Amino acid sequence: MYAEVRSIDRLTPSLLRVHLGGGTLDSFEASPATDAYINAQFVPAGSPVTVPFEADDLEPLTPEQRPRPRRFTVRRWDAETRTLSIDFVAHGDVGYAGAWALRAEPGDRLQFKGPGGSYRPSPDVDWHLLVGDESALGAIGASLEALPATARALVFVVVDGADHEVDLPSVADVDVVWLHRRTADDPEALLPDAVAAATFPPGTFDVFVHGEAGETRAVRRHLAAERGVDLDTASISPYWRRNFDDEDWRRAKRQWLADQRHDI
Ligand SMILES: Cc1cc2nc3c(=O)[nH]c(=O)nc-3n(C[C@H](O)[C@H](O)[C@H](O)COP(=O)(O)OP(=O)(O)OC[C@H]3O[C@@H](n4cnc5c(N)ncnc54)[C@H](O)[C@@H]3O)c2cc1C
Repeated sequence: MYAEVRSIDRLTPSLLRVHLGGGTLDSFEASPATDAYINAQFVPAGSPVTVPFEADDLEPLTPEQRPRPRRFTVRRWDAETRTLSIDFVAHGDVGYAGAWALRAEPGDRLQFKGPGGSYRPSPDVDWHLLVGDESALGAIGASLEALPATARALVFVVVDGADHEVDLPSVADVDVVWLHRRTADDPEALLPDAVAAATFPPGTFDVFVHGEAGETRAVRRHLAAERGVDLDTASISPYWRRNFDDEDWRRAKRQWLADQRHDI
């Protein structure tokens, strides 16, 4: 399916909310998951292919001209206006997806499949732990919006600085700890160290940890080793890897996940 850019909100210096409508969105079926994501195809500059395209249209293309698959979270689906909103991390003029969002203008088209997804805050726990970076803000924001007023959540988000923080509306009792890389001695340790140093509320909790691979792995190790978290029920995964583009990361990911099993 495909949709057209309707408008773009610059939420922070590094986060763009792109609102998509039209196209074939009438047949979009929302997921109950609050980490629902689409598999989008980003057409490289200079490629002769235009959206919408069929698999056959890609056959004559060189590898450089082929659309690049990237996953992005559904920040919000408005069923009435049939508008799909996605929060893109703008991480410079590198890669395809972030750069596409930086250049996006109303009328630009995006082709995608989905949504997939698996996490939704459990109604059966005393509180919810959500941990991530900018790339996970879509899922964290959607999860907090799905909580009832009786729920409680503890959230850790690492961003560049105070000007990179966003509103995370929720009717629940939510405590958000913003961590700033710019002023940290060791920015990559900031998120795992903050989670490790935190006093958790009493009671049972579910776990959502997504973001940069090294950081999510360190948080995962701590939660399993020190907090007794059952990794089979926790939602923990590396959305991206520092210094790897998505193609390289997808190639390395299977081995990374296999190695990670030996961390604990
Ligand atoms: C299920 C799922 C859901 C996701 N949801 C979102 C989402 O809602 N919003 C979102 O922004 N991302 C999301 N991501 C992450 C996103 O798919 C990756 O960050 C992807 O690599 C971005 O593609 P790109 O073409 O912009 O950069 P790439 O071509 O993949 O990478 C180019 C360079 O940029 C670096 N890079 C990639 N991502 C980031 C980043 N976030 N911050 C800093 N540097 C980066 C890479 O390490 C590489 O050096 C999600 C990933 C998964 C698996």
